[in-house]
Amino acid sequence: MPESAEEIYARVVAAVGAGGRLPMPPVDEWDIFPWEVVDGRLAPRVVEPPLAAEEPRRGVDGVDCVPCAGEGDAVRIWENDRWKLVHPPRPGGLPLVLWLMSKEHMDYADMSDELAAEYGRLSVWLCRIIERMEHVGRVHVCRYGDGSEHLHVWFFARPARLPHLLGSLVIEWNEMLPPVPEDVWRDDLRYVATRLAHHDGWSLV
Ligand SMILES: [Zn+2]
Repeated sequence: MPESAEEIYARVVAAVGAGGRLPMPPVDEWDIFPWEVVDGRLAPRVVEPPLAAEEPRRGVDGVDCVPCAGEGDAVRIWENDRWKLVHPPRPGGLPLVLWLMSKEHMDYADMSDELAAEYGRLSVWLCRIIERMEHVGRVHVCRYGDGSEHLHVWFFARPARLPHLLGSLVIEWNEMLPPVPEDVWRDDLRYVATRLAHHDGWSLV
């Protein structure tokens, strides 16, 4: 079962004290961070002129594609003949972060109608399973596709009842909150994989 808001808060207080601030992630080094400090205030970055072309993504046409070769550092916990569910190698601050990926190399918009229908069912089942876990407030489902071409969709579970942890910036708290204890995280991963296998495919944990 994911930790309650009180348990997460207690770990934050244990790390930095009541009223303390968690360490700052290196967001100022991120190319995509949209703000910078100007005259002591946060301001939007200056918009730069357009590039001549988009930067190539990783694994274009399946060449040197990590998901095609396996999972890299990530770990597969569920699969069927066409899809796999994987997680990052280590827990972050959010209860769960998962990727649903096609086994075959394709981009999101390349899905056939049949595969898209199956993706839709898996996506809804995953949300339903995770959102019904105690202390989970919501599952955010995100497809960016800007880094790697291989079809992958993010599922971020955010805790319930923690102020500020809402909307699109929840992912940044995954980097800042102290990591979920390993045993809690592994129990929850096993629960999700097992429950999903009740509908389709096989749990691998
Ligand atoms: Zn691939």
